[in-house]
Amino acid sequence: MLVQRDVINKLQISKSDHISIDKGNDRGNVSLVVRPIHNAINSFIDLDFCIPEDVQRREDIPKTFIYYDNIMGSVDMEDHLNTLLPRHLRNEGLVRLYSAGYSNEYRDKVMTQFKVGKVRVLICTDAAEMGCNIPDIQVIVQWKLPGSVSSAVLLFVQQAGCAARGIKEGLAVLLVEKAVYYVSVNALNKDVSNTSSSKMASSLPKEAKLTKKYAENHGLLRGTKRPGGRWTKGSTRLYKLVNFVKELTVVFGNEPAAPTVPCCDICNPELLDRVCPGEPKISKRKPAIPKSEEPYLEVQQALHDWRKNTQKLDPRLACLASEAILDNSLIDLLSSVRPIPSKARLDVILSGQWVWFNKYGDEVLEILVHIEILAVTKMTLKRKVAEAPESTGSQPAEKCV
Ligand SMILES: [Zn+2]
Repeated sequence: MLVQRDVINKLQISKSDHISIDKGNDRGNVSLVVRPIHNAINSFIDLDFCIPEDVQRREDIPKTFIYYDNIMGSVDMEDHLNTLLPRHLRNEGLVRLYSAGYSNEYRDKVMTQFKVGKVRVLICTDAAEMGCNIPDIQVIVQWKLPGSVSSAVLLFVQQAGCAARGIKEGLAVLLVEKAVYYVSVNALNKDVSNTSSSKMASSLPKEAKLTKKYAENHGLLRGTKRPGGRWTKGSTRLYKLVNFVKELTVVFGNEPAAPTVPCCDICNPELLDRVCPGEPKISKRKPAIPKSEEPYLEVQQALHDWRKNTQKLDPRLACLASEAILDNSLIDLLSSVRPIPSKARLDVILSGQWVWFNKYGDEVLEILVHIEILAVTKMTLKRKVAEAPESTGSQPAEKCV
């Protein structure tokens, strides 16, 4: 009412001759979800749900606003979401950044493309109020808590209100740092204020355990695929939000909204299935390939010769530098690793670095195998020659008997 009075006074609207329309903050067609960010923050894996797994066309991606107050981080976020797209959609500009730092021309263009559905995910770094004039935003995401819990909740209520203004249903997701779930158990315990400092130090591991337990009981595991993750209680601090929206409805005298979609993940935990974090990619460490300190000169020379001949034989390669066929670093690599007895081994050693592998892999392998055989033969001969005088010069003792 205070806001309404201020607006009327400031704009000098007639106090008796106006119509006030206040639809309130409680949106019956928007589901609310609050959960922790389970993976490393900078990996953005927790946003994988924004790009459905079976995307084939741009329309398969829900129109999404992601609010993230970090310009540098948002570039990495954009990169990550692009990697989730199928190859044929990756360079189509489906995920875009939007902030006051960009030119008016860029912002107008991107916003128009979002409105018509060409851009599907807009990452907004600072224009928090943006989006409310777009009727068909399906998903709103707030990435990390901006500021304190209470201010973030207020902001999230405002952002959630921008979802599904002209369509049947929307989803608003608040993803928060895990730290928000940790509350010092000692701070909660009044008796601890009387505890001596030495006693406190000795109970630190115990406190850490209790704090973790407290966090787990209040939502730390929500949204994970771990058993029970979906059903643990939510953070009491964060879930005040749901009641807060209801309280605002009373304060502003709005009609309570009749939910037409699942209200929130407390009432409907299955909503958490719609915002599952992705699986972290486990990078398998490749076993080191043993290399000799010096390249094997005979192999090095043979590969240089092969490169030159190959270029001569194929006129289509004439315009290329010979390094483009097999560059020097790969020649050094191949002449430093022994043995290379098969194409599979050659593939492992080159590990995708040679673009001509399919075309010329067999030819290069033949050179490597041939020199390998020659080297082995030479070594065997050398050893035999070296061993020969010994065997003739001194007879084994048992034969002297
Ligand atoms: Zn609810």
